[in-house]
Amino acid sequence: MQISEDVCHAVILADSRGNYARGLPNVGPNNVIVYRCNHERAGYFCSREERQIEFKTLDHEHFMREALREAELAGLAGETPIGAVVVHDGRIIGRGRARHVERHSEIAHAELNALLEAENYIRDHIHAGVVLYTTVEPCVMCLGAVVMSDVDHIVFALADCNIHPEQMLEMPYVRRHIRDYLGGILAAESRELFRRFRPQEIMFFESNATS
Ligand SMILES: [Zn+2]
Repeated sequence: MQISEDVCHAVILADSRGNYARGLPNVGPNNVIVYRCNHERAGYFCSREERQIEFKTLDHEHFMREALREAELAGLAGETPIGAVVVHDGRIIGRGRARHVERHSEIAHAELNALLEAENYIRDHIHAGVVLYTTVEPCVMCLGAVVMSDVDHIVFALADCNIHPEQMLEMPYVRRHIRDYLGGILAAESRELFRRFRPQEIMFFESNATS
């Protein structure tokens, strides 16, 4: 572990692979804020391989059904039927659903709302292996929020025809954070919610999902 960068009065640590540390800022001597590396605090470096093993053991359909439940609640409330959950260590740490109408906001996306609910937990705990489950492929805004939130796995149901993940995931900034990008989990169920609540919007999503 080495000190790699000084920004104002903050010290940011980075590991040998160039991954910046994040965590609760601790006020040290002379009011210098030290961002303590979560990996270092845990006493080990969370390698890609360790994260992959943890990710593979998760029951993706189970958590996607939880996201679909949020999506249905959104649809029943007159919102776009999109839901999301954030999962760590096999349990849900954040839930969200679209709330555009309720909040009069175009950016009140399900993923963003789920990430905001999980934010404190992620900041206070070891964050390796955090997964976002969402019923629709995340937009550019939400993908950025995923990166900023230290989520490293994304699982979605319906693919968005306007999204070109092969382009987004090639961006070094994104590629450094996103370890897995898995789509098609319960896509038909997500599509059914659009058929039920927003049939006019179904054209925006993949056409090959079974109905
Ligand atoms: Zn979004």
